[in-house]
Amino acid sequence: MTKFKVQLRQRNIPKSDLISDIKKVANELSKNSLTSQEYSQKGRYGVNTYLRRFKSWNTALEEAGLIVINRQNIPEVELFQNIAKVWTKIGRQPFGRDMEKTNGNSNVSLGTYENRFGTWNNALLAFAKYIETGKLSDESTSQPIEPTPGKRTSRKINWRLRAQVLIAHSCICQMCGISPAKDPDVILHVDHIKPWSKGGETEINNLQALCEKCNVGKSDMYEEN
Ligand SMILES: [Zn+2]
Repeated sequence: MTKFKVQLRQRNIPKSDLISDIKKVANELSKNSLTSQEYSQKGRYGVNTYLRRFKSWNTALEEAGLIVINRQNIPEVELFQNIAKVWTKIGRQPFGRDMEKTNGNSNVSLGTYENRFGTWNNALLAFAKYIETGKLSDESTSQPIEPTPGKRTSRKINWRLRAQVLIAHSCICQMCGISPAKDPDVILHVDHIKPWSKGGETEINNLQALCEKCNVGKSDMYEEN
């Protein structure tokens, strides 16, 4: 007689079971926190089950009342800089799915934004506020983007001003109208309308979005003048 055993795939394990198994493993190891690696060695369920049900390992830890060690506490400014990068690369406002690291555009996962801001929409709102005002979500003072009167601006266009210009112009080249949203090979530059070397300031009114082709054409034109 042979013993015949099938393994049925467990679906919809109650969250309470998932939570109590994390607690059980933490208890066995006498720890007040638990990495997913530690859990995977002793736990009853797969780590992927936790990620699917709780969106992140840290959320599962929180719900189990364990200490969340956030080794990857990325500064908010970096989270926004990454949104700006993806937005200007794809030429339109990113959806949550555009932030999946597997798409190759984002350095930060959608889950990180959801953990930090609750939802992707909230992350976008916080981003828009930062780009516009320079205010972080926990800051009340703003970093003015405007130059101090009487003093020349720096020639360098920082990433926030660059994002401001590109987003204000819907990531469209202001000379030929091409956009990375239509052609992913298009790279947009932010360029001084009146060159900085000729007294043009680095401020939003003197900056424009140009594709690589038009930008090269434009600098030639200025050399002739
Ligand atoms: Zn162009």
